[in-house]
Amino acid sequence: MTLRAHDTVSVDDRIAASKAEIEALTQETLNLYRQVNLLYRIGESINACLSSAEVCQLVLRESCKILRASAGVIELNDGTRHGAAPESPTSELRVPIENAHGRLGTVTLYDKRIGFFTAADEKLIRAVARQAGIALENNRLILGLLQKNQELAQVNDELTALDRMKSDFVSNVSHELRTPLASIKGFAATILVDEEMPTEVVREFVGIIDEESDKLVVIINDILDLSKMMAGHMKYEMDRAPMEAVLADVIRLLSVLAEKKALTLTFESVHCAWVEMDMNRMAQVFKNLVGNAIKFTDSGSVRVTQWTEGDEVCIAVADTGEGIAASQIPHIFDKFYRVENVVHTREGTGLGLALVRRILERHGGRIDVKSCLGEGSTFTVRLPCMPAPEA
Ligand code: ADP
Repeated sequence: MTLRAHDTVSVDDRIAASKAEIEALTQETLNLYRQVNLLYRIGESINACLSSAEVCQLVLRESCKILRASAGVIELNDGTRHGAAPESPTSELRVPIENAHGRLGTVTLYDKRIGFFTAADEKLIRAVARQAGIALENNRLILGLLQKNQELAQVNDELTALDRMKSDFVSNVSHELRTPLASIKGFAATILVDEEMPTEVVREFVGIIDEESDKLVVIINDILDLSKMMAGHMKYEMDRAPMEAVLADVIRLLSVLAEKKALTLTFESVHCAWVEMDMNRMAQVFKNLVGNAIKFTDSGSVRVTQWTEGDEVCIAVADTGEGIAASQIPHIFDKFYRVENVVHTREGTGLGLALVRRILERHGGRIDVKSCLGEGSTFTVRLPCMPAPEA
């Protein structure tokens, strides 16, 4: 068989065409491989729990590598920007980053070569941007879950602490109720069995029974007050009254306790001040503060001072007692909290300061404390002053 010239050309042409076809196919396969590889690597970020910055860096790094672009930038709607644009780029490919909730930002790739990016590149980067949108959304949800988790752990810690305080409270209250009850029962029984007891002894015993009953009343009132306050049922009868009247009454009432412990109890009013208040509740506040000052002071003094600062009246209750450790100060206004919960040598239920703070808040006031262990404490109350009523 003889081959003619045009037959030879035609075979060469066909071989060349096949080669070109194979090359194009190889190129296409390579492209596809790169695309799958890129999407796969970006897809990993969805599961990897990456931060938003890490997702953006991964997207930029892998996209630039696969497309051989010289640089890239991701700008997110929250104002963050990742990557850097090169100086005077000639080619630019920008696509939005979106997820089911809308647009999150844009990804832009740059190159210095003119007409560098193809339609296939754009298609690929759009797919990548969609993946990035999902990864960023995942990241937002995971962060939200972590935060919720942290909040729950904190609430759990608080509940555990409250539970512990409640148990301490039950044991404190039982102790506080049992001691005066035992004394009441003992003295009453003694009076009952001894028919010939002299009147003055009977009077002395009845006096003790009366004192012990007062202690019970205080404890029970504190418990009832706190539960009323917690339920928002506490009623306040507000009147405009001079602060020094309330304080002078409290001092008069508690001077007996101070005398028993040989403590100096003084009251000084530097400036007069009128306050809109429920006088009984306000007296309860200072009975508690001055009562505590006497209770936690074994020698020295308890001084109450009143003065005004701007439109506020300040009242300081300062003692020279045992003081409070710095670590305990943040807790003493919590309900049921007592520094001395384990060894019970001082009377108390741990409700007093919790009530004090709530009553003051209800009057638009506040309280703070400065204390030094072994040197004493100063509780300072601040309340809004009112003009004196016209006569
Ligand atoms: P309590 O019934 O125990 O007195 P409070 O709520 O009034 O309860 O006070 C809480 C705790 O704060 C007290 O148990 C005590 O440890 C501490 N505290 C309060 N006032 C003083 C004070 N003036 N000096 C030292 N410690 C104090």
